[in-house]
Amino acid sequence: MNFDKLLEYQSLDAELMKLDAEVKRSDEAKRYAQAVARRNEASEKYTKLTQDANDLLGAFSVIRKKLDGLKEELDGFDGILDDVQDSQEAEHYLKLVNAISVQLAAVEKEAAQIASKIDKVTSEASKVWEQGVQAQREVKTVKVDYERKVATLQPEADKLKAKLSEIAKEVPPQFLKTYAAIKAAKKLPAFVAYPNGNNYGYCSRCSVELASDTKAKLKNPGDYAECPDCRRILFIPEK
Ligand SMILES: [Zn+2]
Repeated sequence: MNFDKLLEYQSLDAELMKLDAEVKRSDEAKRYAQAVARRNEASEKYTKLTQDANDLLGAFSVIRKKLDGLKEELDGFDGILDDVQDSQEAEHYLKLVNAISVQLAAVEKEAAQIASKIDKVTSEASKVWEQGVQAQREVKTVKVDYERKVATLQPEADKLKAKLSEIAKEVPPQFLKTYAAIKAAKKLPAFVAYPNGNNYGYCSRCSVELASDTKAKLKNPGDYAECPDCRRILFIPEK
């Protein structure tokens, strides 16, 4: 196997990755990422506050029903004392009315507390909404700069991609697959020349000592073998 094309592929791909890294490292990309993060943060906060408001409204409607029930109960006593002659009976009714009034006051207090929480959450939500709107505006602005930055490097990236796909046609597919797998494992370069042939005995990248069965595969130009440790492909260059 002649590794020249693969090596060319590998080095062009490295150039392409360098371009990508240059974009990612740029101030434009950082500002864009930060703006997006702020926007997403506001959006998450808003969702959470809306959820809180819904929960509170649910609690409020439960309290509301309780209040209505107590008021109805109280209304049931309206005029009841008019027909009561017995002072003991009257006292009994008054006690009942008092007890319900006390309950009613407590529930009303609870309702007022929930209402004030709802106000708080709603006003916080509208603040966060405003922040989100501003953050989204910021995203739009910095995105323009970011895209401009990407565009300046795009022609070069396109050229590299075109070359890569040309070269890919001349490389056995299984080697491209191997390259992709090693790249995914972040172990580039994937193909490493194995110097001195026969008796070198170490991976030229991770320096692990090769077992004799691996060494046995690396005798002549074009021979290749996988490093048992780092999984890179070692090969003996053609003379
Ligand atoms: Zn290795």
